[in-house]
Amino acid sequence: MNVRDNLEALLSLQEIDSALDTAKRKYAALDKGLQVRQEYESAKGVLGSAEQLVKQTEMELKDAQLECKGVVDRHKLEYAKLYSGKVTGSRELQDLQAEVEMLERNSHKLKEKVDDLARQLENQRSRALELRQDATRAGNALRRHLEGFNKIAAILRDEAATLSASRAEAAAKTPSDLLGRYELLRTARGGVAIVMMQEGEVCSGCRMRLSASLKQRVNACTDIVLCENCERIICPQPK
Ligand SMILES: [Zn+2]
Repeated sequence: MNVRDNLEALLSLQEIDSALDTAKRKYAALDKGLQVRQEYESAKGVLGSAEQLVKQTEMELKDAQLECKGVVDRHKLEYAKLYSGKVTGSRELQDLQAEVEMLERNSHKLKEKVDDLARQLENQRSRALELRQDATRAGNALRRHLEGFNKIAAILRDEAATLSASRAEAAAKTPSDLLGRYELLRTARGGVAIVMMQEGEVCSGCRMRLSASLKQRVNACTDIVLCENCERIICPQPK
């Protein structure tokens, strides 16, 4: 293989590597959905607390209803006893009267408590319903985002796989010492190791005008020529 063929092989390798770098950059720049996921997690968290509150109020209401029923039942009994004619002692009647009044006051208070809790529960339930809708919306947004992400990521992965296969082929065609030099240069020069000479005298890597002697060497294609400024390999323009 002569120098020109080697340089052309290297140039096609460079094209593939640059395309691979672009695919990698695109993949890295993809929005992985961190924010939509955070929004979903936070919506779920708020919903969880609201549902917990509903459960707690449901239990409190149940307890209050039971307590209220107990007091109402006892009030009924004591009230019936008071007017049954079976209790006759005035002291006893007085005590019974006091107890009936106390039970009446308590049952009144407890009924108010039950009503209060029922109102609270209703509000909490409708709040939880709203929050459930929010969480569903956030979940759908996350699902849509991930679908989109996976689609683009799969395209980029396919692209990279195809490029990697072509790269292996192109690398196999390049002499190993030159390939080694190319890899080192690529690492040192921001991913671009070989560039074309443009307008017959300009390094397309750094836009510097080449000296007359360098130009001549590039065109002669008898050895590997590096740009004096950016130190990249310079390839003559195709004939
Ligand atoms: Zn240069």
